[in-house]
Amino acid sequence: MVMASGEEKQQIRAAEHLLMASGEDHKRLTDYLEAQSIREEQICREEEEEEEVVQATQLQRTIVHVTDCRTLLCSYPFCLIVKSQFYHVVGCRPRIPGGCPLCNKLGFLLHLHALDCQQSQCRTPCCRDLKDRHQQQQRQHVMNLDPLSGF
Ligand SMILES: [Zn+2]
Ligand SMILES: [Zn+2]
Ligand SMILES: [Zn+2]
Repeated sequence: MVMASGEEKQQIRAAEHLLMASGEDHKRLTDYLEAQSIREEQICREEEEEEEVVQATQLQRTIVHVTDCRTLLCSYPFCLIVKSQFYHVVGCRPRIPGGCPLCNKLGFLLHLHALDCQQSQCRTPCCRDLKDRHQQQQRQHVMNLDPLSGF
């Protein structure tokens, strides 16, 4: 076993703390993400749109990565952030109407992933459920477009 240095131990403690975010920590994490999105809004709009597309693509890759990642201090882009969000969702009991913004954000990313995902045995959370639901919706949509297809 490798001995962790003092600094590493501190980082591990900070990461563990983040992973167990709840209550006050949850509020702090949400405030932090809100503050970040406000800062992003101040960036020039065109740049922002391009950056958002890149970020969304990277976040979708990270979601797949996080499903298999067992490293606490992983250097993969956004790995720790997405991982802490997964842990957050498990313990989150939103008391806000419309749910928790952090959970909604992660739900949206999982939804985007499921739309693109080609793996029938994908282990990403909710992926197969979301894909099933989406296929059902498409089937209904086709039936609504062409009433004869039901016969
Ligand atoms: Zn990782
Ligand atoms: Zn939440
Ligand atoms: Zn998937």
